[in-house]
Amino acid sequence: MNYYSTNKQIAPVSFNEAVISGLAPDKGLFMPEQIPVLSQSFIQSLPDLSFVEIATEVASHFIGQEIPEKDLQTLIADAFNFDIPLVELREDLHILELFHGPTLAFKDVGARFMSRIMAYFLRNVGQKVYVLVATSGDTGSAVAQGFYKVPGIDVVILYPSGKVSKVQEVQFTTLGENITALEVNGTFDDCQRLVKTAFADVNLRNKLYLTSANSINIARLLPQSFYYFYAYAQLRRKYKGPVVFSVPSGNYGNLTAGLFAQRMGLPVHHFIAASNSNDTVPLYLQKGTYLPKPSVATISNAMDVGDPSNFARMSDLFGNSLPSMQQQISGYSLSDAETRNAMKEMRDKFQYTIDPHGAVAYKAFETYKANGGEGHGIILATAHPAKFGDVVESAIGKQPILPEQLATLLNKPKKSIPMSNSFEGLKEFLMSNA
Ligand SMILES: *Cc1c(COP(=O)(O)O)cnc(C)c1O
Repeated sequence: MNYYSTNKQIAPVSFNEAVISGLAPDKGLFMPEQIPVLSQSFIQSLPDLSFVEIATEVASHFIGQEIPEKDLQTLIADAFNFDIPLVELREDLHILELFHGPTLAFKDVGARFMSRIMAYFLRNVGQKVYVLVATSGDTGSAVAQGFYKVPGIDVVILYPSGKVSKVQEVQFTTLGENITALEVNGTFDDCQRLVKTAFADVNLRNKLYLTSANSINIARLLPQSFYYFYAYAQLRRKYKGPVVFSVPSGNYGNLTAGLFAQRMGLPVHHFIAASNSNDTVPLYLQKGTYLPKPSVATISNAMDVGDPSNFARMSDLFGNSLPSMQQQISGYSLSDAETRNAMKEMRDKFQYTIDPHGAVAYKAFETYKANGGEGHGIILATAHPAKFGDVVESAIGKQPILPEQLATLLNKPKKSIPMSNSFEGLKEFLMSNA
């Protein structure tokens, strides 16, 4: 399978090349030339298959001959050593718990798959590879964990100082080894801009082998489609009827992966793009104009993105047609007060503790229903509530229990390098490492 750039200024490349370059040289995002359609018999057999079986089948269609099936299966079994259970709260309301990986957030899925794919493709390269990542919180920890101690790869994480939670910060600032955290005096958008500028800097790229691990990397995006199949498989063991996914969104990688699954033949009735006050996409879906804007800080901070990088892919999937997109996706946005109410409501009605990101998706689904929408809702719960303990406490009156693996990290010393939000500082730092 070959991959083209959404900017269409370069010739299509192999999967290997798309993964290693991250962003296309024309600054577009890589997309598969065709989205493979899976057989009806595969779709029907989903309830009988394990996550690893489903993932291997789906992945093999996107990767083709570049990774032999046996290697692919080994790599997938190693990456997905945790469960992704579907929890029923009501016949039409289910929670897909995506937070049972090592960093307790769904980004483990993409990061663990991508790091293993990269290590596989780079196993014969003699040169050190730098993975550059901008994070608003959870990407940094998932990528750091995913690549921790992977030989030949150094990870450099840029994060906005003071704008990620303590629990998020310790997960990428306490590892050391091949993981470096740069604490940027600025916003997440500044961090994203710095990374993009670094990739566009010819000078730098001649010296360093740079690659990206943000949701723009196709190897982070593809594995996220696996759990849409797996969620559907679990639901079908119990219920017939239309399936609706509600996706708490920031850069829209998660939602785009769901659209991939649908194009591959997964019967998805509808998608809900659930955002906080960073509502660029819901506004586009409602009003028809795409107006990127600076991000604002919210209590669901992993979704604080004003100009989502995967919008280019979403739009591309619909041939840049707004009406086609509106048929498949509805957008809803929630204020922080509404998000707190949603956490409380979920606690009171279902005795279920949800994190602020999942809460946004829950309330968006309920609004969709109230407006006459139908279907079994699957809410993607993207983070463990303990990762946002203070926010959860402010909504439901008590702290969620912190899992052991996180509690230990909180006592470790933080190691980060302060950085301004101008590109010169970053360039100097990277060059001095070359
Ligand atoms: C990254 C993240 C999101 C947003 O996912 P996108 O793919 O960027 O839309 C939602 N929730 C949590 C907890 C996240 O870490």
